[in-house]
Amino acid sequence: MEELLLIKTCKYCELTLKPCLDEGIECTVCNANIHARCLKRGSVPGGLHGDLFFTFTCQECSDTSTEIFIREKLSWLQAISLSLYHLQSKSAGLSRNGFFHWRDHIVSFIDRNWDVLFPNEVKRKKKWIGTVSGRLSHYSTYLFLSGGKTVINKTAWWTLMYPKITPLVLSNVYAVMNLEKQKAKLKNEKKLIADADHFKNLLKEYIVDEELIQPFDLTNKGSINLESLASEVEEERKKPNKRKAILPNYKDLPKKLIKLAPNSSVSLTEECQASGEEICDQLRESKKQVRKSVKTPLKLLDPMCHYNTSLNNISRLKMQKIQNKLTGGVRKEMILSPYSGIYLKPYIRRDTEVFPTWLKLMAELQITANRINPDYVLPPRASIDYTYVQPEHIPAINSMCNQFFWPGIDLTDSLQYPDFSCVVLYKRLIIGFAFLVPDVKHTENYISFVFTRPGWRNCGIAKFMVYHLIQTSLGRDITLHVSINNPALFLYQQFGFKVENVVLDFYDKYFRSDVVESKHAFFCRLER
Ligand SMILES: [Zn+2]
Ligand SMILES: [Zn+2]
Repeated sequence: MEELLLIKTCKYCELTLKPCLDEGIECTVCNANIHARCLKRGSVPGGLHGDLFFTFTCQECSDTSTEIFIREKLSWLQAISLSLYHLQSKSAGLSRNGFFHWRDHIVSFIDRNWDVLFPNEVKRKKKWIGTVSGRLSHYSTYLFLSGGKTVINKTAWWTLMYPKITPLVLSNVYAVMNLEKQKAKLKNEKKLIADADHFKNLLKEYIVDEELIQPFDLTNKGSINLESLASEVEEERKKPNKRKAILPNYKDLPKKLIKLAPNSSVSLTEECQASGEEICDQLRESKKQVRKSVKTPLKLLDPMCHYNTSLNNISRLKMQKIQNKLTGGVRKEMILSPYSGIYLKPYIRRDTEVFPTWLKLMAELQITANRINPDYVLPPRASIDYTYVQPEHIPAINSMCNQFFWPGIDLTDSLQYPDFSCVVLYKRLIIGFAFLVPDVKHTENYISFVFTRPGWRNCGIAKFMVYHLIQTSLGRDITLHVSINNPALFLYQQFGFKVENVVLDFYDKYFRSDVVESKHAFFCRLER
């Protein structure tokens, strides 16, 4: 890495190579550097800007007197940063204020240049598109910047956090960071610094020119094109069946449920505006126009009040007001995951075998009530359906969380990664749910909530949900907290979770005084 600090000259033209601006490609035999533009063949194979990921032999050193390029195996991080680097320098016109759409620009760029990027790959992995969006999110704190956190307010749009750093330098600094992390881990040192700061410090250490390590400038990208923004939002509203079109609006809702006196009402539009103070006035105006159609006052639900958690018509109607057109409790079409870019099937599983206590009780009631009728036949039971979380489920799930766990829980964010969820329905009644938060640490996912409705327990519902969550996180550790006197611990142990430590008063700030469960928790881990 020290070589970043050295001054190098191009072997062919003898001019100085400027780090990050016109770095050379290095000959593996004579170690000399050569400008990409000075190469005898005119450019690197494939011609991608900033692409120095080759094992290179210069003309002089080569047996055949021609330059030899052998593609190094690219990591997804390298491929994505290379794509963004090329796009920002060669196709800046495609961008919106410097941001590129993850699928329309980045994925399609990789798709077009697949043979250049991965010539040695025998076969494309089926889920590679999901990998791209996964990598973007994974490095979103220090390598890639999402439009979602900026004025553009679009999580689908991405750019390089440090746009002037070439992909090779970025990848080298990242490698140094990982090496230091591994060393610290071997010495059992606790990591005290976030990856973002760690990476920034390394950049400062290796790159002298401060101008080059300036993060993406959000302020200096010209004014937002209001017309195109408004028309785009309008356009997305017109195709409400697509999850990805619905989500950005949904995300604008206030994160926390607001406590309201019963029967009081609040205007959703006002709420959104108040929560978005940082959004510039102009943007607000344009959004207001778009939102006009949903400006009817909407009653938010009191989190402390347990209302009917089945998806009844009234709550569905309310959801329709927010999202215009949402169909029933389980959608029959595939759902696009914003996290992985994968289409999720409507059902994870449909179970017609189990007979939970609640249904037994209902059956007995029906038989008793109809005992005068000798021809009475019990109507067939519906299946128990395991699905991925959908926006329609959120109000009922939040309400159950507030009733059975603690007030203030809002699981709206889980819609951003539905792959890691499981919602169980009997007809339209939600009888259980389980959620996992991906990427809480480098290779660690965290189970945040697992719940089965009383009357539906002890028949394997929670077991299947936990099994499903474990299946979604192959190759990653899974962690969770469980109250020390909660019998669910045995379920987790069956799956191989090990208690790592006891956290005293973990639930202290959450549980209400009427809850019998212990406030202390076990922190458990399933190692992979
Ligand atoms: Zn040169
Ligand atoms: Zn050479």
